[in-house]
Amino acid sequence: MSHVVTLDQVTRTYGDVVALDEVTIGFPRGRFVAVMGPSGSGKSTLLHCAAALDVPDSGTVTIGGVDAARLSETRRTELRRKHVGFVFQAYNLLPAITVEQNITLPLRLAGARPDPEWLGELVDRVGLRDRLHHRPGELSGGQQQRAAIVRALAARPDVVFADEPTGALDLRSAAEVLGLLRELVDDLGQSVVMVTHDPAAAARAHDTLVMADGKVVDLLNGPSAGDLAARLSDLGSGGLRLVEGAR
Ligand code: ADP
Ligand code: MG
Repeated sequence: MSHVVTLDQVTRTYGDVVALDEVTIGFPRGRFVAVMGPSGSGKSTLLHCAAALDVPDSGTVTIGGVDAARLSETRRTELRRKHVGFVFQAYNLLPAITVEQNITLPLRLAGARPDPEWLGELVDRVGLRDRLHHRPGELSGGQQQRAAIVRALAARPDVVFADEPTGALDLRSAAEVLGLLRELVDDLGQSVVMVTHDPAAAARAHDTLVMADGKVVDLLNGPSAGDLAARLSDLGSGGLRLVEGAR
């Protein structure tokens, strides 16, 4: 199976805390993978290292055939802009510019020309055509997150990482965003990796990776929400909390 990103023996520490403990994992192309686990188990650190937003203490992170961990910060940023999209729980749109400007900003920073046909398809798919000239503050949370998803996809990355993308949304908006992420994989052949606390959300993915104490402790293929809830309650209390601060 072809992988969009692979981590080999990746360790990331913060002082005495081992946030990632010799993690080896590949994220498969064209699949929707959920990441679950108790609060503090290393899910965000895993995504940040896999997306080359963060650099491990040791181990390799292969993106686009290159070890991101050994690049200068400038080269790592270039690699990230080309190959990786990232969606944050808090949307992270810039408030002073329009939705359209937000969506194309990473491309423009990378010196790349936006592809109007691709962007048009994405904007129509997420239903934001009539919101392009609004500021983010004029949009609902669900609309802002859909704009952030378009921004993440604008450069046609190999993979989109999403860290609790539905964590700040009401149930209906969350369901829309999950449906959208699934469509990106099914219809557009994208690869998506999503952290979630919600077993029902994870059940929309193809595979679920379970973390505990900085390690990947399980890889489940097509689990039901019930399977996941049971697995997480085995691991301790954190797994079923509905809200967790974004890091
Ligand atoms: P999760 O996303 O599963 O809740 P994180 O990856 O955010 O877990 O954190 C894993 C561990 O690393 C936790 O113990 C957390 O407190 C610690 N950690 C993460 N980021 C930092 C940071 N920037 N500074 C210090 N400790 C951190
Ligand atoms: Mg986290």
